[in-house]
Amino acid sequence: MAQVGNKSLMRELNRSNILNYLRINGPTARTDIVRNIGLSAGAVSEITGELMGLNYIVEESIGKSSGGRKPVFLAINPDVGYVVGIKLMEKKIAIAITNFLAEVIETKQVDFKIGPPEKNFKEIAKIANDFIEEAGLDRGNLQGVGIGLPGIVDVERGVLQHSPIIGWRDIQVEEIMSEIMNVPVYIDNDVNTFTLTELWFGNGLGANHFMTVTIGRGIGLGLVTNGKIYRGQGGAGEIGHTVITPGGKRCECGKQGCLEAYISDPALVNEAFEQGLITKQDSIKTLADLANSGSVEAEKIISNAGYLFGSTLANLANIFDPEFIIVGGEGLRLGENFLNGMNTAFLNETMPALRGRTTITIDRLDDTAWARGAAGLILQEIFESPIG
Ligand SMILES: [Zn+2]
Repeated sequence: MAQVGNKSLMRELNRSNILNYLRINGPTARTDIVRNIGLSAGAVSEITGELMGLNYIVEESIGKSSGGRKPVFLAINPDVGYVVGIKLMEKKIAIAITNFLAEVIETKQVDFKIGPPEKNFKEIAKIANDFIEEAGLDRGNLQGVGIGLPGIVDVERGVLQHSPIIGWRDIQVEEIMSEIMNVPVYIDNDVNTFTLTELWFGNGLGANHFMTVTIGRGIGLGLVTNGKIYRGQGGAGEIGHTVITPGGKRCECGKQGCLEAYISDPALVNEAFEQGLITKQDSIKTLADLANSGSVEAEKIISNAGYLFGSTLANLANIFDPEFIIVGGEGLRLGENFLNGMNTAFLNETMPALRGRTTITIDRLDDTAWARGAAGLILQEIFESPIG
């Protein structure tokens, strides 16, 4: 990175502070920005003038005037550009185009076959470019592409280290994709992308300690402490691979007895198959339908899974004492039997002294929400260090 002088670094920081203030607080009068950010009126005027020149912010007149001029507010210009978010899954991709406030403009899902990465990257780029054209957007206004991947991602290097779900290892996703797309490309673990969007634009606005836990094809964890995503040395969040039964069922990661080997969608389908309730070709939906139509065995599989999941949430509450946990993912399609098991376990297994401190929020997030999360990767970059 080029050496940045102190003066221009300060300027960047001040710009970033003002943009983020407007992102969090919405339209604000200049005088309130001055009061709340701790910059002089002159400095705020100069920086907001620059940001207006770059079209990042606009003036808005809102509310009633008290006789004289209408008060003028400054606001983020959501349409100064757009970003694309992609969630790559085992058999499909979800893609979303969002504006600068992470509001979804267009979204769709496309069937996708995982194969050699280089071939897949070209296919993904084509899907993205076609989608931008279909949406009638100017390709020149695309600010970047964020990609959420199911696995361990080295965000510093932009490398997917390992994904048991799609079978890739050590792939330089950012480098290759940004070359093909000719815009910045950022990647992250898919649960982190979702967590990031909650933190920057969603339920997590203003929260210091929260987490998102997702269940479905796998079990994922996004962890926010002190208002930032916690990554450990890079691979943090692999809650699905905590061992609940040493020497137990074999897991895709190569170990035995992982949580995921018991309560992921494929694990539950397998369990129901072994009990003779469904065939090998059936899906998790068949199992849920069976439980809903009164099969006691199916109900038991699902409520047991809910209990194990709820115990995991309680373990997290015991370790991290977060303000809230957002629970999402397609596994919630298992319905009331699952949720009842989860709630019972969460109550029972949270340490008595910590009970009632952490709330659970259910977010029936669909694949669009995940793709929107991936778009958040680019928005974060823009807000942290405005271009221009
Ligand atoms: Zn595992």
